[in-house]
Amino acid sequence: MIDENRVEAGALSATGVSAEHVLAEIRRLRDADRPTHGGRLFAYVYDPAVPGLDELTAAAHRESAHVNGLDPTAFPSLLAMENALVAAAGRVLGAGPGTTAPDVVGSVTSGGTESLILAVKTARDAHPEIAEPRIVVPSSAHAAFAKATHYLRVALDVVPVSPETLRPDPAAMAAAIRPETVLVACSAPSYAHGVVDPVAQIAAAAAEAGVRCHVDACFGGWTLPYLRRLGEPVPAFDFAVPGVTSISVDLHKYAYAPKGVSVLLHRDATLRAAQYFAYADWPGYTMINPVIASTRSGGPIAAAYATVRHLGDDGYLRLAGVTRDAVAGLADAVRAVDGLRLMAEPESTVVCFTATEGGPDLFVLVDELTARGWHTQPQLSYAGLPASVHLTVTAAVAPRVAEFGPDLTDAVAAAQAAGPVRLPAELAALAGALTPDALTPELVAGLAAGLGMGGEPDGAPLPERMAVVNTLLDAAPPELRERLLVEFVGLLQRPTW
Ligand SMILES: *Cc1c(COP(=O)(O)O)cnc(C)c1O
Repeated sequence: MIDENRVEAGALSATGVSAEHVLAEIRRLRDADRPTHGGRLFAYVYDPAVPGLDELTAAAHRESAHVNGLDPTAFPSLLAMENALVAAAGRVLGAGPGTTAPDVVGSVTSGGTESLILAVKTARDAHPEIAEPRIVVPSSAHAAFAKATHYLRVALDVVPVSPETLRPDPAAMAAAIRPETVLVACSAPSYAHGVVDPVAQIAAAAAEAGVRCHVDACFGGWTLPYLRRLGEPVPAFDFAVPGVTSISVDLHKYAYAPKGVSVLLHRDATLRAAQYFAYADWPGYTMINPVIASTRSGGPIAAAYATVRHLGDDGYLRLAGVTRDAVAGLADAVRAVDGLRLMAEPESTVVCFTATEGGPDLFVLVDELTARGWHTQPQLSYAGLPASVHLTVTAAVAPRVAEFGPDLTDAVAAAQAAGPVRLPAELAALAGALTPDALTPELVAGLAAGLGMGGEPDGAPLPERMAVVNTLLDAAPPELRERLLVEFVGLLQRPTW
């Protein structure tokens, strides 16, 4: 008999499928993804290429996947691992017994964005008397600060970075501090260009004004200290700097842990107090959450713990050396090609380049590199800064460096031969003239179709070559870019009934 009430759609099959079947399915889906290993993907993934590490972290994840971080008294294993990770991060970042920051405390979060949202929330909630709180950030600060202020109804004061140094002027940061400012933030380094902000001067200005200073070391917090030990000229950016009140560092970046783990540190427990949320005014369990999530899987925390324990200080020092050499090799490859120039001399683990006058169209170049198996990250032009190509470099890239130079030369020649993207006239006109409010769903659907996006319901939703999309976005002002991206991703996110 057929059950009329049977529910069945998408992942929910009628009878359930075998373990082998569903794993095969996942592997088949994964074939469309960019390669997470092999050192040819310069964004999104952080690969130390350490044999056995994936197996170890998968096993560690399995041990703790069903453990719930909601209640540290029920699952002390998670509390122990979290406290050990916080101590490790503190030690890497100049805190702990015998340092000038012996009282540092912290939490494990799900990622850099959560760490930054919590840093902003904590600064805001420490000043309930300020009705309209604000924060000051350089324009190079990670977009997650904008997200934090948006979520938390905090005003965002953005100080431009110099087009030459890609850093903010500390005096301008100081001048932007107002009576309502609850936090000043800077990066070590910035994600886009990999440059370290003048942390000491910014923190001093914040301290002078009695305002907290957060150092976003999500990207570089686990590499800069090791690069310094290897003799690189890394400026002071951590808890050794007076005035720095909190620091974030992502373990799922250069601590090489699987995704879902970052650490937010505060100089002392008093500064952390406003981070907690407790609630006893309901009939259920009394809730006390240090972070945004309530139920939290122990999996990512156990995997991060296993990674840090396994690699150890020596391992991270070795990986930093390998990565530094890869960065130097890639930067040399860029310098050797006519038509390209580095946006900044590498001072961390980012190589970022742009085109010179008469150089290739960067968005075409990115596609040419993709066609040669190199996955780079295009960055749109912004406020006087040219469009650029971003490479996040990890240890896994090292064995590939020698192959990159010739392919880059080749790709530049191909991009020069192809010439710049010429947007269809009606698209260019739209991008220049449209205001976000004028974007109707029909218009967006037309645009998407014109760009080759979202065509077939179950087919490849993205065009093979992204240069046209990037050129269109590049021609649009930021508000329109945002709106277009929201609409496009909205088209991609549709249930597969
Ligand atoms: C990656 C990054 C973030 C955001 O981290 P997620 O883990 O992606 O949420 C914030 N700041 C900097 C500097 C980063 O590199």
